[in-house]
Amino acid sequence: MSDRVFCPECDEERLPRLETRRETLSVRGEAQCVTAEVLVCPVCGQDLADQERDGRTLGSAYNAYRQRHGLLRPVEIRELRERYHLSQRSMAKLLGLGLATIQRYESGALQDDAHDMLLRCFADPKNAREMAARNRNQVSPRQWALFEEAIQSGEMTQSAGGHAPTGSGGAGEVESLAHAIRCLLSEAAHRDFVVGRTKLLKLWWLADFLHFRMFGRAITGVEYVALPRGPVPQDFKGHLRRLDEAGEIDEGEVSYGRYEGYEYRVGDPESGELLSPTERSVIAVVVERFGGLTAQALSDMTHREPLWVAFSESGRVPYHEAHALAMLEGLPAEVLTRLREDTDGRAPPES
Ligand SMILES: [Zn+2]
Repeated sequence: MSDRVFCPECDEERLPRLETRRETLSVRGEAQCVTAEVLVCPVCGQDLADQERDGRTLGSAYNAYRQRHGLLRPVEIRELRERYHLSQRSMAKLLGLGLATIQRYESGALQDDAHDMLLRCFADPKNAREMAARNRNQVSPRQWALFEEAIQSGEMTQSAGGHAPTGSGGAGEVESLAHAIRCLLSEAAHRDFVVGRTKLLKLWWLADFLHFRMFGRAITGVEYVALPRGPVPQDFKGHLRRLDEAGEIDEGEVSYGRYEGYEYRVGDPESGELLSPTERSVIAVVVERFGGLTAQALSDMTHREPLWVAFSESGRVPYHEAHALAMLEGLPAEVLTRLREDTDGRAPPES
């Protein structure tokens, strides 16, 4: 350590000492524990500001947050863009984002969750063309041709099924969450079903588990934990708040007598366009079957579930138990047949 640094406590320049320690930083209200290098005044013990080191510490905290929430890392955002042969400006135009936004994300700023979902959707060549098509006239014909060419070669190398190229665990499928929830609320609205928080969490869970049971893959891929009320997606409050803040859904506070609750709506009823036919159909089936029940009735059904005791003891609700869920037994045979037919590429039934 050669450079002297001004210590505001001593009001003098000091030759600082370098300390490595564990620090807890708050990222979006969540504590992230990281290893930090800090300059310390050898006389008074005060921590001294150091832009470069503090920036690295913040970067580590952002990466810990990204890892926990399955967000793309800055380098992955750049790689995604380069894979499509897009400039920062062209990608911003095609996605309807600002150039500065893409630049900040690639250089380490923590991305907005809704933008992360957008980028993850865009990472799948099967979605990319459709997502970009509406802004096609915003980029040069040459840029568009390069992009299309990159998509075609990307599609050739992609394996069938799944969403993102990274999609093995829950994090890889987070990008379809917004579309799934919007689709679910839209299906409920068509049937004039009011969707409070408990009901939303139950329908979300049932849709994920029914899709997993039938097709070996969840829709949103979130993990489920067993709370006293029943299975709920991990960090559901965070997911719902982010969807609300991003304008994907409308979370409204309502009063039920002495209790405060929430009701969920979707502004634009045409949604779920980035879901597969089987995903849309499973959501429609689940809403049709369970969406008209009260939250209380749904909770009671869950608690009568033979597996519930095992769930509540372990605290977890694993996908591999989906095949044994009694709640999913009662679906009419023609519904299940219809769902299977959808995997053959037929259009899902309109509802
Ligand atoms: Zn000092």
